[in-house]
Amino acid sequence: MTHTITLIPGDGIGPEVVGAAVRVLEATGLSFHWESQIAGAAALATEGCALPEQVLASVRKNRVALKGPTGTPVGSGHRSINVELRKRLDLYANLRPVKTLPGVKSRYDNVDLIVVRENTEDLYSGLEHVVVPGVVESIKIITEKASTRIARFAFEYARTHGRKRVSAIHKANIMKLSDGLFLDCCRAIAKGHPDIVYDEIIVDNACMQLVLDPTRFDMLLLENLYGDIVSDMCAGFIGGLGMAPGANIGEDSAVFEAVHGSAPDIAGKNLANPLAVILSATMMLDHLGERAAADRVRTAVHAVLREGTKLTRDLGGTAGTIEIAEAIAVKVAGV
Ligand code: NAD
Repeated sequence: MTHTITLIPGDGIGPEVVGAAVRVLEATGLSFHWESQIAGAAALATEGCALPEQVLASVRKNRVALKGPTGTPVGSGHRSINVELRKRLDLYANLRPVKTLPGVKSRYDNVDLIVVRENTEDLYSGLEHVVVPGVVESIKIITEKASTRIARFAFEYARTHGRKRVSAIHKANIMKLSDGLFLDCCRAIAKGHPDIVYDEIIVDNACMQLVLDPTRFDMLLLENLYGDIVSDMCAGFIGGLGMAPGANIGEDSAVFEAVHGSAPDIAGKNLANPLAVILSATMMLDHLGERAAADRVRTAVHAVLREGTKLTRDLGGTAGTIEIAEAIAVKVAGV
């Protein structure tokens, strides 16, 4: 069977790391048809639109995409195409596993967290306006529908993946209505899952507790903005953004992409760590029902990390993006 996948290389390091992931996926021996789509800065230059309709149409048709990061100008310019893509395709669940891997030097051992971030609302609603000059209002939207479905996603994930505890992270002491509603929804879903321990932690305290000892946590359930910030912090526990994979999951389609952005500081230099996208690709293989191939890729990644001779600069090595992808691909093909 051939898997038809929408491929969005993206901006900055995107084409390099997505190319590396494709090299590794091809080495599994599975058959892929890659439907390449341009989004981000390149699309803006050629099509006058950062997220052309054909990109959305391709993901809707194929129901699965592998995506590189896309850049968003700060303070002005076009809106984030990531936010747009997640909203337009209703990819409501952002799933981000954070796991210590062998051979990667980091401040903590045995980190094994799952971050579940609501992906469609909150301060990412994009509703901002100038009230009067010098006063700006940004609107935070929290709904019962979105909060309930992300909570249900987290608890069902916990059940099906043998996880024991879900911690809802919030600021309901200050945002009593919005974060209060989020917690009400989490509590209602928790009641239906008595086999999973449920607790609640205020976001600032949660960050401090996580930095002290991330191994005390199991699954984190967060609104969009807290989830975005806490994800990057958690990536720092396991060796940095080059190690943190992710998936955006909806009822109809799923887009797999790393936590990291387009890293313009290292783009085009063969310095980017491709592991976050390669590990996102293993999540995609699981999603496609190709569990054995996913395990082969994970085994190969672990073997290369354990050997320690092909590491990118962020992990203390001197290997390039292409070299590490090649080393993994050779092991995948040979397993
Ligand atoms: P970033 O994640 O691009 O980079 C942060 C730091 O981590 C940089 O020093 C970078 O060199 C490093 N880094 C990131 N990925 C790496 C990798 N694979 N290997 C080695 N080092 C890596 O964050 P930023 O600089 O805040 O954002 C840059 C752009 O990316 C912005 O335009 C932002 O909007 C966009 N962005 C996109 C996404 C996405 O497409 N999903 C996510 C986050 C940020």
